Amino acid sequence: MKFPVVELSKCILCGICEEVSPSVFHVSDLGYVQVAELNAYPEEEVDDAIKNCPADCIFWE
Ligand code: SF4
Repeated sequence: MKFPVVELSKCILCGICEEVSPSVFHVSDLGYVQVAELNAYPEEEVDDAIKNCPADCIFWE
């Protein structure tokens, strides 16, 4: 199964991924993006987050 990964060193914490796909991405109070552990990921939503991430730091693995 493929799952989304955030390259945290490039992330600028803009929050767009969470807006686009809140079931998957969460900007935590600790200051980084958490990816939810799901059995299946909403592919279109994650693809949208990938497309809209200004730092280009979300990818499928
Ligand atoms: S959209 Fe990209 S840069 Fe913005 S918070 Fe999400 S992972 Fe970080």
